[in-house]
Amino acid sequence: MEMKNGNFYIGGIAVSELAAKYGTPTYVYDEQKIRANYRKVSETFRKYYPNFEMFYAVKSCNNPAIVNILRQEGAGADCASVNEILLAKSVGLEGEKVMFSGNFLSDDDIKQGLESGVIFNLDDVSLLPRLLKFGKPELLSFRVNPGYGKSNVGEYVTNAGPNAKFGIHPDKVIDAYRMAKEAGIKRFGAHMMTGSCITDAEYFPFVTGLLMDIIGKVSKELDINFEFVDLGGGLGIPYKPGEPALDLEKAAQLTAEMFKKKSEEYGMKPPQLKLEPARYFVGNAGWVIGTVHAIKESYRKIAGTDIGMNILVRPAFYGSYHHIYVDGKEDHARKPLGMSGQLCENTDFWVKDRELPEDLSEGDIVICENAGAYGFGMSYQYNGRLRPAEVLVNNGEAFLIRDREEFEDMIRHTHVPERLLS
Ligand SMILES: *Cc1c(COP(=O)(O)O)cnc(C)c1O
Repeated sequence: MEMKNGNFYIGGIAVSELAAKYGTPTYVYDEQKIRANYRKVSETFRKYYPNFEMFYAVKSCNNPAIVNILRQEGAGADCASVNEILLAKSVGLEGEKVMFSGNFLSDDDIKQGLESGVIFNLDDVSLLPRLLKFGKPELLSFRVNPGYGKSNVGEYVTNAGPNAKFGIHPDKVIDAYRMAKEAGIKRFGAHMMTGSCITDAEYFPFVTGLLMDIIGKVSKELDINFEFVDLGGGLGIPYKPGEPALDLEKAAQLTAEMFKKKSEEYGMKPPQLKLEPARYFVGNAGWVIGTVHAIKESYRKIAGTDIGMNILVRPAFYGSYHHIYVDGKEDHARKPLGMSGQLCENTDFWVKDRELPEDLSEGDIVICENAGAYGFGMSYQYNGRLRPAEVLVNNGEAFLIRDREEFEDMIRHTHVPERLLS
């Protein structure tokens, strides 16, 4: 996003023009920014470890147009459910370009996951006998909990360690691979996903070491060859102005060094290194634009916008920070103001005191930054405030990639018993 003469532009188009054409609230994504983010990670890691591949975790922003951009760049898809596998297939990703990393799977999930022919990444050893009932995958991966995880928002998105629900306990990993080997499975991978939004470069080699120590021993003891090791996502982006960014170069270099060192130490044939970033690709390439509909002077001055927690839930959900810009007023005098959505819930009052332009007024366009990841995908219809539109911009051209929901979408799939109609 750029500012020219006080007005904001996304991908070369004025935000005021996007708001006028598509209405608000609307998610806007910048295609070139997504491509640049992907290339940056790809080129940086490849430099230190050429046998490198990435899977985009589609849950972060599942619009098929976005998944297609990443597919064109060379990404596979990491899927959390059978429907996400279907989404990946709908854009032409299949087989070993798709990873199924769901957890606590039902028999139906397992059956459909197997039939889909993608890489199965099992979250627990207890799922293996159930999986074998339905068939034997050629290639199998297990998700390991290496005993440590972290995130930028405390426990909320810490996905490994003693308080995480994910992955196999370090002591049980060997049993999982032994059972799989005894069942006749021949090709193996290993996986972890320990936390999200990490901007500390040293974290990545550290957890890589933990995982490699666990699977290195498995490789030696069971004489198993790991074709790939997937270190998950978690590459962080700064949300607050002035917050340090992840030193990607350092993260890549140190992670690759640790990966090589540990593969040698355990006599492993160097596995392919996989990553599954999501936030890093789309987070800072997406914005929500909204309108100030009313200004209230109460205990504080509160600007009521159409960006509620139904549109962007992260602040209410995780206490996350999203920076807000006001089109045309960035250089105006500021004072601490409140900002809220339109829901009948006080958690919707997600900005209590923030330095905003003091002449903020009805009709102003507000822009919420870093909303591309875990934004639209977590939106919902509470209070009859329906899901927003999504627009993709590319070098000065805008394209509607999802319609704004309408009333029919709110009652679709509901049924009223005949006896209630009299
Ligand atoms: C959500 C998720 C990711 C992506 O995480 P980011 O922190 O957004 O990079 C990767 N892998 C798995 C298994 C996930 O669930």
